[in-house]
Amino acid sequence: MPLPDKTLTCSDCGQEFLFSGDDQEFYASRGFTEPKRCRSCRAQRRSEREGGDASASFSRAPRQDREMFDVTCSSCGQPAKVPFQPRGDRPVYCRDCFDRVGGGGGGGRTSSYGSR
Ligand SMILES: [Zn+2]
Ligand SMILES: [Zn+2]
Repeated sequence: MPLPDKTLTCSDCGQEFLFSGDDQEFYASRGFTEPKRCRSCRAQRRSEREGGDASASFSRAPRQDREMFDVTCSSCGQPAKVPFQPRGDRPVYCRDCFDRVGGGGGGGRTSSYGSR
């Protein structure tokens, strides 16, 4: 004989939820008391306790998809990072100096800096 369904009130969100006859049997067989919270609140609590979804929000951290190379600026001597592999036969500049010198020779305004 199945037990009749019950309607309980969630102590978290205050919503009524169904405590089905099957669930009542299951709870009774495990020696559990009646649930105080609805399914969604219970699931939320569980994931909070396990820290389940907490790390998921960090998975969208910005990805560094361009490799940066450590160089020493040929002009001011400051350490800098450039998005290209520095070659020994060419001067490399930090961002400031690069803007100032306009690419380090050659005359072209477009240069390796910033190219992909
Ligand atoms: Zn609830
Ligand atoms: Zn510099």
